[in-house]
Amino acid sequence: MCKKFRQSGARGGDICLLCRAPANESGLCADCVADLPRLTHTCRRCALPLETSEADLCGECLASPPRFDATFASFSYADPVDHLVTELKYRGHLPVARLLAGQLAARVAGRRVDLLIPMPLHRDRLRERGFNQAAELCRALARHSGLPWSTSKLVRTRAGQSQRESNRRERQRNVRRAFEWTAPLPCPARVALVDDVLTTGATARAAAATLKQAGAEWVEVWAVARTPKR
Ligand SMILES: [Zn+2]
Ligand SMILES: [Zn+2]
Repeated sequence: MCKKFRQSGARGGDICLLCRAPANESGLCADCVADLPRLTHTCRRCALPLETSEADLCGECLASPPRFDATFASFSYADPVDHLVTELKYRGHLPVARLLAGQLAARVAGRRVDLLIPMPLHRDRLRERGFNQAAELCRALARHSGLPWSTSKLVRTRAGQSQRESNRRERQRNVRRAFEWTAPLPCPARVALVDDVLTTGATARAAAATLKQAGAEWVEVWAVARTPKR
């Protein structure tokens, strides 16, 4: 079945966001929920899908452990989750954040953290887009979990990779310096860093390193989707 995102009702409910059949409280119909590319056996550190016979860490995390301690991701970044993320991120369809956060909330149910922090956007990107999709996810997750969240303490000081930074080492150095902790108080001990998609993990590594420098003892990543290894 070819599924394309379609416009929902005004509140994002009633009609399935993917196929327009009657939706349940998730914002999708039962068939579309059942068809979502849910992740099962993944690396406990970075949520990379693993063969069921493999242990619980991927080769990369064994060789070079990231600064974050664990990752929880609901889905593989594949059809139709990529359509949903595009609708949220590039078309500003904010009810999709509630739908995706509802799915992620089920994945992280029972996790104990002190603070949710959305992956920040650089202020230029934020001005361009008008909202941070990770903050929209955080807002909805906070409603599900009752956990506090904050957008203002972790700040992105670099917009991202520029074409001129062709040198790999230079790019790595810049991504390492991409974040600052700006709160007057140390970072709480256990933090969940919330993002829409975890791709290479380089940005999450840098953000986690900043949170640890700021006092966090444990940083886990909560992502709607994980890009499988290509
Ligand atoms: Zn449907
Ligand atoms: Zn891994």
